[in-house]
Amino acid sequence: MNRCKNCVMPDTRPGIQFNEEGICYPCLNAEKKRNINWKTRQDVLRNLCDRYRRNDGRYDCIIPMSGGKVARPGASGASGASGASGALGACSAASG
Ligand SMILES: [Zn+2]
Repeated sequence: MNRCKNCVMPDTRPGIQFNEEGICYPCLNAEKKRNINWKTRQDVLRNLCDRYRRNDGRYDCIIPMSGGKVARPGASGASGASGASGALGACSAASG
């Protein structure tokens, strides 16, 4: 039985894969997230929200959505240049 050299996850776990150095993709993905510039990501989110933000004092609503778990870097077809998975939905409540 092979195990991840970082977290000791066994290769008996369904769907687990290891890179050539014996590190599992969830560990590689966790390392990738440690290197994300969250300030830049926050600015991108704020700019995106500004495109849809109401300016009449009423509430806005953001619905974050996930495309599911991404076990391998780059495995998500929805990934943008940032490498993030998932999507962001925005809506404004219609007045009745
Ligand atoms: Zn691991």
